[in-house]
Amino acid sequence: MGNILDISCGDCKYNNEYFIGVGEFFRERNLKSAAIVSRVAGIDKYKIIIENSFVQVFRCFRCNCLYNKMDICYKVKGSQPVNFGILYRCNKCNEPLYPLFSDSIHCSKHISYQNMKCSDPERNDYELYYYEKVLRDIPCYKCGNRKLYLRAWGVFD
Ligand SMILES: [Zn+2]
Ligand SMILES: [Zn+2]
Repeated sequence: MGNILDISCGDCKYNNEYFIGVGEFFRERNLKSAAIVSRVAGIDKYKIIIENSFVQVFRCFRCNCLYNKMDICYKVKGSQPVNFGILYRCNKCNEPLYPLFSDSIHCSKHISYQNMKCSDPERNDYELYYYEKVLRDIPCYKCGNRKLYLRAWGVFD
């Protein structure tokens, strides 16, 4: 469940689709990633629990390239539980990637103090506004201008 963002640049031909959200759709990828963590960190795979998994847009702060990757938090069972996250790096400049959007925006309910009857359409408007606002601050990876916008958006189950 989540959103599909169609991100375009107003100054050049940059255009790409990105997924944001959670869901059964990504189950395979989650299992595969747990297997990789088990191998890399040398941890018994039956001890690895995926605590939180989220498809996110990541940004490289050096070249501004955007990536669609899984933001996964693992917990390792044991006497002292340990948490792990994945550090992704940019394919082009090898810089660490950072999540572009805050995932707290995707919690199922938002509490608004001003308006206690916060309905779904209002929540969607809020998300849309948030995405557009974040995009306005990021230089386009291709031309370097701050002209990114949401050309379209949709939802997936
Ligand atoms: Zn980069
Ligand atoms: Zn551009």
